[in-house]
Amino acid sequence: MEIRTRQPRAKKKPLILLAVILLVVLSLVFLATRLHVWVQEKEKTKLLTLVDREHPVEDDYNVKFTLLGEGQMVDSRCVDDLEAMLADCRRAGGQPELTASFRTWGAQERAWEEALDELIKAGLSREAAERQLERQMELPGFSEHQLGLAVDLLHQGTEQSVEQQDDTATIRWLREHCWRYGFILRYPADKTEITGKDYRPWHYRYVGRDAAAQIRELNLSLEEYIEMFYAS
Ligand SMILES: [Zn+2]
Repeated sequence: MEIRTRQPRAKKKPLILLAVILLVVLSLVFLATRLHVWVQEKEKTKLLTLVDREHPVEDDYNVKFTLLGEGQMVDSRCVDDLEAMLADCRRAGGQPELTASFRTWGAQERAWEEALDELIKAGLSREAAERQLERQMELPGFSEHQLGLAVDLLHQGTEQSVEQQDDTATIRWLREHCWRYGFILRYPADKTEITGKDYRPWHYRYVGRDAAAQIRELNLSLEEYIEMFYAS
């Protein structure tokens, strides 16, 4: 009798062990897959994502946004630095006005079409208008505003033009101090050949404090910085 009762018990043990091993292996596979997806997503939405005429915004680019009021919205990762920068700029005598931040594909398309229509109405051919506009704004899919990491900051009550912005207390302060808050002047006057864009004293791009400090220190455009440190 004893032998008969022991035999089935002896068979059950390896089965339980096998089930446990299988469970552990499946859990590990599941975790590894999740980790892989997480790393891929992190990589895809990294702060140093380059968007220019050769690098469009990825279709599935997706980050958390924070609403700032008055219809403005930015990537949540830059909110604290942006608010600190605006507060310190005001304290220093500037009057920054946030006029553009995150833009959807549709909004970028409308802005492009409106600006193009204006140039054509002013007498330019479609081709000439497109060529001129490409230096001043971006086709839908090619704007940093679609990342939520770029902001346009004007001196309160003035127009968006180099002449009106360049020598204001706001822009002078931002150009000098934006890097302390992780922002860079994205289209500087001395990098137009590399960025392919005219000087825009109002357009600031968030890259994080370390990168912004290095970019300033080495006097690089974002294109040059990524090429120098992150080119694969
Ligand atoms: Zn802009």
